[in-house]
Amino acid sequence: MFCYDTPVRDMQFVLHELLDASTAFDALPGLEGWDEDTIRQTIEASGRFACRELLPLNAAGDREGCRVEGGGVKSPAGFAQAYRRFAEAGWPALGGDPRYGGQGAPAVVYSAVSEVFYGCNPGWTMFPGTARGAYQCLLAHGSPEQKDAYLPRIVSGEWTATMCLTEPHCGSDLGLLRTRAQPAGDGSYRITGAKMFISGGDHDMAPNIVHLVLARLPDAPAGVGGISLFVVPKFLPEGDAGLAATPNGMAAMAVEHKMGLRGSATCAMNFDASVGWLVGRPNEGLRNMFVMINASRLGVGVQALGMGQAAYCSALGYARERLQMRAAGGAKRPDLPADPIIEHADVRRMLLTQKAYVEAARMLIYWLSLALDMQAGAADAGQRDAAAERLALLTPVVKGFLSEKGAVVADIAIQVHGGHGYVSDNGVEQIVRDLRAAQLYEGTTAVQARDLIVRKILNDGGRQFDQLIAEIRTFAETAQAEDGMGIFGTALARCCDDIQRLTGEIGQAARHEADAVGAAGCDFLRALGHLVCAWLFAQAARVALRRIAQGSSDPFYASKLATAHFYFARLLPEARCHAEVARTGLASLSGLPQELLFV
Ligand SMILES: Cc1cc2nc3c(=O)[nH]c(=O)nc-3n(C[C@H](O)[C@H](O)[C@H](O)COP(=O)(O)OP(=O)(O)OC[C@H]3O[C@@H](n4cnc5c(N)ncnc54)[C@H](O)[C@@H]3O)c2cc1C
Repeated sequence: MFCYDTPVRDMQFVLHELLDASTAFDALPGLEGWDEDTIRQTIEASGRFACRELLPLNAAGDREGCRVEGGGVKSPAGFAQAYRRFAEAGWPALGGDPRYGGQGAPAVVYSAVSEVFYGCNPGWTMFPGTARGAYQCLLAHGSPEQKDAYLPRIVSGEWTATMCLTEPHCGSDLGLLRTRAQPAGDGSYRITGAKMFISGGDHDMAPNIVHLVLARLPDAPAGVGGISLFVVPKFLPEGDAGLAATPNGMAAMAVEHKMGLRGSATCAMNFDASVGWLVGRPNEGLRNMFVMINASRLGVGVQALGMGQAAYCSALGYARERLQMRAAGGAKRPDLPADPIIEHADVRRMLLTQKAYVEAARMLIYWLSLALDMQAGAADAGQRDAAAERLALLTPVVKGFLSEKGAVVADIAIQVHGGHGYVSDNGVEQIVRDLRAAQLYEGTTAVQARDLIVRKILNDGGRQFDQLIAEIRTFAETAQAEDGMGIFGTALARCCDDIQRLTGEIGQAARHEADAVGAAGCDFLRALGHLVCAWLFAQAARVALRRIAQGSSDPFYASKLATAHFYFARLLPEARCHAEVARTGLASLSGLPQELLFV
């Protein structure tokens, strides 16, 4: 059965015992007040709100979906009311800049709270989730007037916002984009074109929607260098005290009928001479949009984490109650007609796999969210740059690796439920459907892999990557000499060697084979994802070992340590396998020429 428990203990562990976030906040202006208690209270409040208001709408929203009705999009029953309560409770303002009415919470706290909302109702959470990306883009690139006009309303949740990139003929390749922006002579532009797959493109949850639209100016060069960014509100913000007034020539032509995330309005949008204003400089739209794309890629990792947590809770609850056959070593519950399936080794393997991936995802996301806070607020420029570079390097790994592993975790929830997982009543098949999109939007896994290898590693001469590997290697060397840590240190050192060698091989191959990166990319990304997660698990194991050595009897630490061992024994070996597959490079692909695929 679908269920969700807010993992407050593990969240607190990662935030405070692993990352020491509160100490970091003490040195970041504006974040000093975010101490352990405040963060715990915020997370607990988000759990209460999400479990009360959002979770009960999750399955019903999936069944009902969104529809075009009376010239606009209608969200599932209860969604609009839940959104009003969400705004009244101040949740949209949590991560917002205080200059625009926000509460200025650290990015890592925002990530933790988003994890909870996505876990309880991903379709609904797509609405405020998309607005967050648009908010960040306007904050970074909007003019002072644009910021004053839109940010307070987005931050308060009064209005929502979207990102309009994709068109029917262009998704991964935005260079093909056709939407036009014609100067109107008064500083504004008329935007005309068709956009597709726009999350929250239209709905009845807020009186106005601020669209950030990519379009081409009349004299723009072809390709991605000729794309500009525009802010295009659904209603022109004139009239009574800036409230939504004049319709702005746009319509949702359809809501996509999708595999999952049916509560989210994924719209085909038509802009017909809609009034828009340039954000940033002409032809720099894609670069500016990348602020939003990067934040959203981290956000996709948060989605996978939240839904993964729901999948794990659901499977765990079911495995404790479902009775089938006796445990291999003899009856564990002789009072019952059979033992709970959690007694079977293979079921425990599945549950541990879920637990390990979910906890790894939490560590990776919170660590990088804290890097966002450092990037924004560290006093030292060197620290800010280091945080920005680490984020840039690992964002494609978060997006690509965690969205794939989230899908594994969700799929296991079905397997633990057996045939009961395949029927809709138990709610776990919805997680699989909802989570599948995470591997597609914000750039597919192949797009992430290409970004990782070409832009983040090869174009940088491997500097950032080598630095990361050196850090892991130093950790591994120290760990090898520590009580209880040797097994982690040895495996990490071996994995570093393997992946660093592989990186060199791919770099070499890329010099004379145009397709070398494409052939190895996804497997390389997966291998690196495993290495980074294993490193984080080893750090968590070290904390747990120290607490146990200090006499703690909290079973949480024993559980963390056992999960770390499980990761190294059962999951990290996949890294070697991916590296081997990546090494086969083009040879394994070009053995079958394209025309033979049709035979
Ligand atoms: C539920 C949902 C919500 C969405 N929300 C939004 C939104 O709010 N705003 C928005 O603008 N868009 C949105 N999208 C669109 C999404 O970003 C695109 O679907 C995505 O970028 C992929 O583009 P595409 O679908 O056109 O696939 P294509 O680009 O046609 O790709 C098809 C396949 O080809 C592969 N491929 C393409 N190029 C390469 C290459 N160079 N190397 C290797 N492989 C390649 C891809 O990896 C993929 O497997 C949403 C999509 C979904 C499903």
